[in-house]
Amino acid sequence: MPGSSKKYLTTVFGAPIVEDNVSMTAGKGGPILLQDVALLEKLAHFGRERIPERVVHAKGAGAFGVFKATEDMSAFTRADFLGKAGKETELFIRFSTVGGERGFADADRDPRGFAIKFYTAEGNYDLVGNNTPIFFIRDPMKFPDFIHTQKRRPDNNLRDANIKWDFWSLTPESIHQVAILFSDRGVPANFRSMHGFGSHAYLWHNKKNEYFWVKYHIVTNQGIKCLTRQEAQKMAGDDPDHATRDLYTAIADGQYPSWDLNVQILTQAEVEKFAFDPFDVTKVWPHADAPLRKIGTITLNRNPGDYFRDVEQAAFNPSSFVPGIGPSPDKLLQGRLFSYHDTHLHRLGPNYHQIPVNQPRGTKAHTNERDSYMVLSSPEGVPNYWPNSLGGPGPKPIAYPEIPVTGAAARYPVEVTSLDYEQAAALYNRVLTAPERERLLDNVADSLAGAIDRVRLRSLVMFYKMEPGAAKLLAEAVKSDYGQVEKLAALSFADLVKATAA
Ligand code: NDP
Repeated sequence: MPGSSKKYLTTVFGAPIVEDNVSMTAGKGGPILLQDVALLEKLAHFGRERIPERVVHAKGAGAFGVFKATEDMSAFTRADFLGKAGKETELFIRFSTVGGERGFADADRDPRGFAIKFYTAEGNYDLVGNNTPIFFIRDPMKFPDFIHTQKRRPDNNLRDANIKWDFWSLTPESIHQVAILFSDRGVPANFRSMHGFGSHAYLWHNKKNEYFWVKYHIVTNQGIKCLTRQEAQKMAGDDPDHATRDLYTAIADGQYPSWDLNVQILTQAEVEKFAFDPFDVTKVWPHADAPLRKIGTITLNRNPGDYFRDVEQAAFNPSSFVPGIGPSPDKLLQGRLFSYHDTHLHRLGPNYHQIPVNQPRGTKAHTNERDSYMVLSSPEGVPNYWPNSLGGPGPKPIAYPEIPVTGAAARYPVEVTSLDYEQAAALYNRVLTAPERERLLDNVADSLAGAIDRVRLRSLVMFYKMEPGAAKLLAEAVKSDYGQVEKLAALSFADLVKATAA
């Protein structure tokens, strides 16, 4: 008999199942009986196994681990988990690709999600970042449009380079992120061998109520490793799950991956000196202006026991802060403060915070948000309103700095200027080596080949503004007229859009 376990199979309510392979029929060849409740339960649950896929970051892998502070950061933030060198905090990280579906190849040219949940003694702190220090757009109003261009076309369900380049070239603030995406780092070799970034600026405040602006850099100790386009194409066919497998196997084999958590810290006076908006997520803070400071080490040391329970249901919120940490005015971050929680309510339901991976572990939640579907635990005999005088929890006053904000309520479009090309140019001209530049252009040319002529020309203008030499090489590679690129580059953006319209 198969099944040597002493445990017997039961219904979901614990009653023994006497037969699990043969349905109950009326006679040997007769129809199945509705009273075969074991069959009914099995089929009904099977039909409900899937929950909505994440709209973005659908394919992911995750693991548990620990953060160990190496510095006392209490001069900058009152966050308890950063307040003492040597202090350890349990965490969970989920890595992901962005545009592909749950079964998509890990070796896609796509940013990687790098989402960390710190289970601190003051509640969960979620640092929901990527493997890139910046992003394509800076206004959340453009986010659904941008993602629509990275996913499948509504008419034929195909991914399409043409719509990607159409959007990017009409949204040229994307040039910096596009340059990184098509560089070697656009396809990390696995999740262990890449950096993570908080990308946005965040607020830190200390017990004296002084505040600072910070950016997080999570630097890999495995060394950066990437796949070339050709290696990635082969990997996508040979093992579409290679990065998921790599992470799981490394941890199972005791090769625990680790990263150093670094921050860039600036005062209000320092950010005001920037030539660009320091809260614009399309830009980095140059290292020369804000050096990295190591504050701790992250180590992943435990695989999830069940993928669906721990990874598929893991829900990260950029709005999940702890005392001492808050948002900056970065517009994209402000949009994310809303949309992550909102999407989890849709995917997992209003009590998703009660799913074990999402529960606070360093403390207990005492909330008046009660009821709705799938309540796993509720306090007994405690009022669910405030103010109360019946022993229920009340707010804990913690000082928060007053951040000056002024201005009329209006929509303020941010024009793309030469400043938006500077950091992409620095990457291309100063940071990358000649072979790295060559591979970047080769990757772009390969992708641009999938775009129609006028979209390709508009895209070449975007590269021209980054570095004319790069646009010339690209024009040769994709057989576009470089003279025309030069002419189009002399136009205003509005005229360029007109000249390259349908
Ligand atoms: P630095 O010379 O001090 O830093 C260059 C940075 O670029 C390093 O962090 C390096 O990472 C990283 N890098 C190298 N290759 C790539 C790549 N293909 N894709 C993305 N990053 C890469 O210069 P600055 O701080 O003045 O920045 C110059 C440019 O470097 C920026 O415009 C930006 O494009 C890029 N950059 C800057 C970062 C920052 O926070 N300042 C962070 C990441 C990139 P590593 O140290 O691992 O080799």
